[in-house]
Amino acid sequence: MRVVLVGPPGCGKGTQAELLVQRLGLRYIGTGDILREAIRAGTAMGQRVKPLMDRGLLVPDSEVNEVVAELFRGEGRPEKFVTDGYPRTYSQAVAFDAMLTQQFLALDAVINLTIGDDEVVRRISGRRCCSNKGCAVCYNVYYRQSKVAARCDKCGSPLMLRDDDQEETVRRRLGEFHKTTNALLAYYRQRHLLREVAATDPVETIYTNIVNAIKQPA
Ligand code: AMP
Repeated sequence: MRVVLVGPPGCGKGTQAELLVQRLGLRYIGTGDILREAIRAGTAMGQRVKPLMDRGLLVPDSEVNEVVAELFRGEGRPEKFVTDGYPRTYSQAVAFDAMLTQQFLALDAVINLTIGDDEVVRRISGRRCCSNKGCAVCYNVYYRQSKVAARCDKCGSPLMLRDDDQEETVRRRLGEFHKTTNALLAYYRQRHLLREVAATDPVETIYTNIVNAIKQPA
């Protein structure tokens, strides 16, 4: 199964991607995580993208396309995967398709997780992520609390509000999201790959709806 998850920040893409990984054995491709790791490691690319990410802006298509293409080079390429946060623009979608075609791989579905902006802002203000960059699991004070307050269940590190989860940054990210997503969705709709799933249902309902949507014939 090869799936793209599309949706604004805070729509639950990360949670659903994690479930798809655990239950269906898909490889997780999260460009946000890869970029944050590059910043932490201080690579040249990390230094180039940091000022943009800190301001909630998208990094250039060429940077993310290269990051993803690199994953598919060599023997350990992902065969079955779920992407979280990629492609984010029309041009990334075209580049991703070209790269997959070269690899003789095809997408099964693109899931658009739908939710209103104000609900997104409320959710994100409650988000707390593990400060251990190697772990980076996210919780939420409203609906996905850690067992011990402010500590990660997985590794015990302190939880924190990410810089790019501040309200002002979230509003800017939502603006960017709407500006770029319409063309992306139109592209996948035209290719009969697009499926809409409401992101406001309980987590398990969303998961079931996603799996059913993936199986739905074009
Ligand atoms: P995320 O963790 O997916 O919310 O991404 C966090 C930040 O990483 C975004 O606000 C962008 O600055 C950057 N980013 C992640 N994925 C992409 C992408 N596909 N295209 C451009 N920028 C991205």
